[in-house]
Amino acid sequence: MKPPRFRYVRPETLDELIELRANEEVDSVILAGGQSLIPMMNFRLARPELVIDIGGVEELRGIRRTEGQVIIGAGTRQSVAMSSPDVVDGAPLIIEALRHVGHVAIRNRGTVGGSIAHADPAAELPVALLALDGSVVAQGRSGRRTIPATELFETAFMTSLRPSEVLVEVNLPVRRAARVAFGEITRRQGDFALVVAAVSATVDDGRFTDVRIALGGVSDVPTRCIAAEEAALEGGPTAAHIREVAHLVADDLDPRDDFHATGNYRKKVAAVLVERAFVEACDVLAEVA
Ligand SMILES: Cc1cc2nc3c(=O)[nH]c(=O)nc-3n(C[C@H](O)[C@H](O)[C@H](O)COP(=O)(O)OP(=O)(O)OC[C@H]3O[C@@H](n4cnc5c(N)ncnc54)[C@H](O)[C@@H]3O)c2cc1C
Repeated sequence: MKPPRFRYVRPETLDELIELRANEEVDSVILAGGQSLIPMMNFRLARPELVIDIGGVEELRGIRRTEGQVIIGAGTRQSVAMSSPDVVDGAPLIIEALRHVGHVAIRNRGTVGGSIAHADPAAELPVALLALDGSVVAQGRSGRRTIPATELFETAFMTSLRPSEVLVEVNLPVRRAARVAFGEITRRQGDFALVVAAVSATVDDGRFTDVRIALGGVSDVPTRCIAAEEAALEGGPTAAHIREVAHLVADDLDPRDDFHATGNYRKKVAAVLVERAFVEACDVLAEVA
């Protein structure tokens, strides 16, 4: 299908982009990699009057490292982030997450900011952002503000970004000693996942000291498993303790049945994926069920 008629503009600076977005009289939409937006327009799920292509805005691209953070420009292609030494070293969970995003061709066009702004409940990057306690920077006419991942995702495909704001940066805290792993279940390689799980865990003297577990595909928004994280701190990286923690993950979930899977299936898969991720991250021998 072809999209409905629209006007197209390609600003070259962030200031120009912000001014275009600030015009509330025009129903505009940002085009980044187009990997989600163009299909939505083709299926007539989105009918913007004006498409603002951010591909020419250099300020939105690039990756830099500060003392405690890896900062990824929102317009950075997913494949560029995957091969960045700063991301490999400072935020390896993002690399694990990106490996699971669609196919190479999708990642060559899709942007890091586009995937987060799109807020698909089964997308990998929002889950990794939440597991890392990351944040994004939004910019509008009145300036910039930082939005933590915990306050960004409101419901499926909806974020707390204001209509006039542009997502400019993705900030990822560097967790030097953390062990990380990422897993998901899909029907076919490259499909959107049924369930996504990300784990980040720090171990000191045989005990977990900092644990983050995040899931996708089990509710309308990426989900942190706080009760399981707290329980994890009661022990260390042994197969038995990891299994107990993974069971707690399932207890706290109530996913809906849908066309792709039952809620009960997603609950069970979430527990299995979390257990596998812990086992991989902590390099322990799994218990045989
Ligand atoms: C066949 C196929 C398979 C795929 N598989 C997966 C998968 O397994 N996992 C996955 O996560 N994704 C998958 N995707 C989606 C892909 O990752 C997209 O790249 C991503 O969802 C959106 O990024 P984009 O840069 O293409 O954004 P676009 O499609 O251009 O934009 C998406 C939305 O975000 C908004 N937006 C984009 N950038 C900004 C910004 N800087 N500020 C504010 N709003 C912005 C747009 O206005 C639009 O509403 C798949 C896509 C296809 C076509």
